[in-house]
Amino acid sequence: MSKMSHMSKQFQSGRYGLCLVVVLCLLLSSLALSHGKDLGSTTLELREKLSQAQKDLGTALYYTSAYRPPTHPIEALKPQPGTHARGVAVDIACNGTFISCDTIYTYAKTRFDGIGRYDTHIHLDLRGYPARWDKRKRK
Ligand SMILES: [Zn+2]
Repeated sequence: MSKMSHMSKQFQSGRYGLCLVVVLCLLLSSLALSHGKDLGSTTLELREKLSQAQKDLGTALYYTSAYRPPTHPIEALKPQPGTHARGVAVDIACNGTFISCDTIYTYAKTRFDGIGRYDTHIHLDLRGYPARWDKRKRK
């Protein structure tokens, strides 16, 4: 092997190494940031309450839905767009995640206005008055 091609091989493997490091960093940062839907376009009050909830509960919360524009298929079916379209609601995955739905429900009872219970997620909102509903099939 000539000296040149040896150097070129070393250079190439160095580049592959760098590529691998970059890919791993991207993967890790996407994992670290994967809390589900981002809370952009939700109100500051809601984001602060959820931030406090994560501290109090000692776990990240995984949001499956947050802000939905009035044209979103779920909102469009309603007579009037709901709390998700006002940016005051989130759905949080629970059961089968880091935290049980019951734990979030117990915590949320005194801190959120609207609470909807489902088998795989819980809906929390700050609509300004209390509302409760339970759509769980398994209880
Ligand atoms: Zn919801």
